[in-house]
Formats: sequence, structure tokens, C-alpha cells
Amino acid sequence: MTGDKGANGYSIFQDTMADMTFPQIVQAAQDRAVVLWGLGVIEQHGPHLPLATDVYMPAALLRRVRARLKERGVPSIIMPPFYWGVNHVSALFPGTFEVRPAIMIEMMVDLIKSLKKDSFSTLFCVSGHGDALHNRTILEGVRRGADESGIEAYFVGAPSFFSRLDIAHDDPNVLPTVQEVDRTAKFLDVHAGEFETSSMWAICPELVRTDILSSLKSTDFVLDDLMEWRKGREHAIRKTPQGYLGDPASANPELGARIFDEHARIVAETIAAKVGA
Ligand SMILES: [Zn+2]
Repeated sequence: MTGDKGANGYSIFQDTMADMTFPQIVQAAQDRAVVLWGLGVIEQHGPHLPLATDVYMPAALLRRVRARLKERGVPSIIMPPFYWGVNHVSALFPGTFEVRPAIMIEMMVDLIKSLKKDSFSTLFCVSGHGDALHNRTILEGVRRGADESGIEAYFVGAPSFFSRLDIAHDDPNVLPTVQEVDRTAKFLDVHAGEFETSSMWAICPELVRTDILSSLKSTDFVLDDLMEWRKGREHAIRKTPQGYLGDPASANPELGARIFDEHARIVAETIAAKVGA
């Protein structure tokens, strides 16, 4: 696996600005480091995954992206993750925190202005959470943060992801990835299913309740089910009373490690191409 020996560390602050000193921040800005930022949520992830799954995953991804950018001669630093994101779909489940989009946008603007104050000039954001409203909110926060601070800021994601959200690929604050992670499954696997469970198993095995995985029946959902689930709130509870949409019992940590490696390679290539490295 690419990256440091500790790329799977438990702390979401690991390898981020939060564990650096202020003279190291000054040095990073002088080195013209690009800033990497993951934005997730605290949200129910079934009976087998922790609420912070969508925070641990982008944290682990960006540690790998940073290592790959370093190999290409692109200095970067990781901003501490944003985790009070927007939850619509699973908002009514216990353990899900709901934040209004306007609040998240204001927070993002202030945090991006702080980067500008420290003389950073370029920011790349990734999302840890699939909820449409969360991701439209990220784009708005990136746009306003860029406009009000003068920083160049981009929301990095797969082309199919932006298409699903009706976000134009040529939006000045959008950076579609050069490739997509190949994810094929017989039925839809959207939330806390095979892919997310495998990913968490690869990076934080101690947080995955592996002893109950075999008891979790695949939801076997098709597109109509997904549309109903995406209406959110009581609809989501009715469609998925156990909280997951997919097939967690098929998860394995090797698949998760492969997904991370592939995803990190694609995101790093996309960023390197953007900065001309
Ligand atoms: Zn998730």
C-alpha cells in the first residue's frame, strides 16, 4: 500500500495541520503547499459501522493522496477534517447530527479565509458523504470561500458524482477526477454496504463490528428503491430500518485497501494535473 506506515492511524488529526506546529505551517505556505480538505458528517452507518465513517474515510484517503503528491514533487498539507456536515436522508436516525446548510457554508467561508491569512493559495476539497444536499452545500461553501478570500478552491469528485447532483463539470470551482474507481455490484450499494464496510475494515478494523456482518441481509435494492430512500427522513427509516443500503456481509478488507489505493491514485493524478506537475 502506498503511503506511510501509519496511513491507517486511528486519529483523524494524524498527518494533518492539527498535529503540526505554527512554524511548520509557515514553512508549508512558503513551500507553496496545496491544501487538502475532507468534509464529512456524523451519521448513522448501520449496526456495524461507527457514526464517523464518513470522516475516517476521507481522512485516510487524503493521507494517501498526500503521500502520492509528495512522490510527484507536489507539496501538500491536510486541513483538519470538517465533520458537522449536512444530513438529510438519515437525519431522523439516532446518532445523526443535522446541521443547516447555511451554517456549514458560513463555517467553510471562515475556515477558508483562515487559510488565506496563512498565505495558502490553493485548496482541494473532497466529500466523505453521498447526501445530495451535503454536496451542494460543499460546492456553495467552496465557491463563496474562494470568492471572499481570493483563494483558488476546488471541489474534487468523480464525473458521475457531479452528474448525479446536476453540477456542471466545467463549473470554475469543480474539478472532476481524471478517472473513476471501478465499483460494480449486482444490487445498489450506497450506504454502509459492501464498499463502505470494506473500506472501514481496511483502515479502522477495530471499529467494524465484524462479528455481526454475516447476519446482515443484503438489501437487494434497485433504482426505484434508491429514489424512495433518497426522499430521506421517515422514507429512509421505512426503506432501511437497519440503516444500511447494500450488502455489508460481502465486505472484506482487501477490497477496501484496493479501493483506497485506486481512489488515492486518481485524486492525486487529478490534483497534480491541475497544478501542472
Ligand atoms: Zn458513509
